[in-house]
Amino acid sequence: MYDHLLIRYGELALKGKNQKQFLKTLVRNIKHQIKLDTGVSAEVSDIRGRVILPLEGRAPEFFYPSLDRVFGIASYSPVVSTALSEESILETAVAEMAPFADAPMTFRVTVKRANKRFPIRSMEMQLAVAEKILATYPSLTGNLTDYDLELNVDIRFDQAYIYVSKRPGLGGLPLGTGGRAVALLSGGIDSPVAMWSIMKRGVVVEAIHFHSYPYTSQQAEEKVLTLAEKVAKYGGHVIVHLVPFTHIQEAIGMNCFENLRITLMRRIMLRIAEQIACGRNAKAIVTGDDLGQVASQTIESIYTINNVTTMPILRPLIAFDKLDIMAIAKKIDTYETSILPYEDCCTVFVPREPKTKPKVEECEHNEALIPDLAGLISDAIAKTETVVCYGDGRERVRKPIELSQGDDK
Ligand code: ATP
Ligand code: MG
Repeated sequence: MYDHLLIRYGELALKGKNQKQFLKTLVRNIKHQIKLDTGVSAEVSDIRGRVILPLEGRAPEFFYPSLDRVFGIASYSPVVSTALSEESILETAVAEMAPFADAPMTFRVTVKRANKRFPIRSMEMQLAVAEKILATYPSLTGNLTDYDLELNVDIRFDQAYIYVSKRPGLGGLPLGTGGRAVALLSGGIDSPVAMWSIMKRGVVVEAIHFHSYPYTSQQAEEKVLTLAEKVAKYGGHVIVHLVPFTHIQEAIGMNCFENLRITLMRRIMLRIAEQIACGRNAKAIVTGDDLGQVASQTIESIYTINNVTTMPILRPLIAFDKLDIMAIAKKIDTYETSILPYEDCCTVFVPREPKTKPKVEECEHNEALIPDLAGLISDAIAKTETVVCYGDGRERVRKPIELSQGDDK
């Protein structure tokens, strides 16, 4: 009978000095996710090289959905724990094989000895366990290379853990260990995936969405907040800043060349995002750009848009194929929401022929034609609303945006 889940964290092992902090965050995040999803306060702890979660009578599957949403978990296994003695390990191993011994089957035993104080070496222990199993169950045959089942014995510092299966985790790094960023979140397929991908690297990401109410509908906003709630299932909550973009779009529409509209909108979005990022102590801007996908995503266009800021812009999807992005969107359950038809602010003012190679100078020239662009930008930021979206169905919290002067918070 399984009594624990043994959780591995692969990549963290590489982190040297930071490892302690990473591990603390990982343990905290696992507890938090379980509490969020199930209401259970689990006794998750760090046991040198692994994280352990006692089942306390629950089926291991009870915890799978939560573990599958924690960044930084490499893999995990339902395990039976046993005392650090040869006798106890042999006995438990034999008992674990019982359910598989009804029909003929091949198996192998793999022993790992993280605890070098345990007196029997891995190879010897492996043989001893295999022999005992063979002697107990005549239907089983040992085979090191071609086997139906692998019985693993992980000899650790306080206990040994025995298991037969392993499930992959999300990988990545624990959320909260990688600093802060803002993500430009549209209602499309790409940007939620981009945001999630950067969160997966441990970065806390707040979303910024530009809307052009009343040109865009209430449903368009609802769509973005729903997307944020889906992403919030990984970690608990996502903050979304809703920036009113209507006046800026109208000013672009009235004063600038039609074929530059998208480029100009993007440049202004970045300026606003940079200011919000500074006020939220974020150090990078995430976008869902994917090279070549649309006119605004050619190298020339990215160059010209990027020109307005020196803040790093992270484009995790830049070289992805659309199908791969769609696969992630489906996995994280944003896809069905993203394909709902409501327009976002850019689609409303789409030019007939957007320029694929816009130049910086012509953009600057056009921006100079907009009366008081700086005023329009500060006004949009001042009127920005912040919505906290939760992953566990809790009601959203809406308030005016709070910006500091970029000092540490
Ligand atoms: P997406 O699926 O993310 O909308 P897309 O392929 O439709 O991507 P574009 O519409 O060209 O691409 O947008 C490129 C990126 O610009 C988006 O991924 C997003 O990061 C940002 N963006 C576009 N529109 C908005 C918006 N209304 N609010 C916030 N960010 C936006
Ligand atoms: Mg889009």
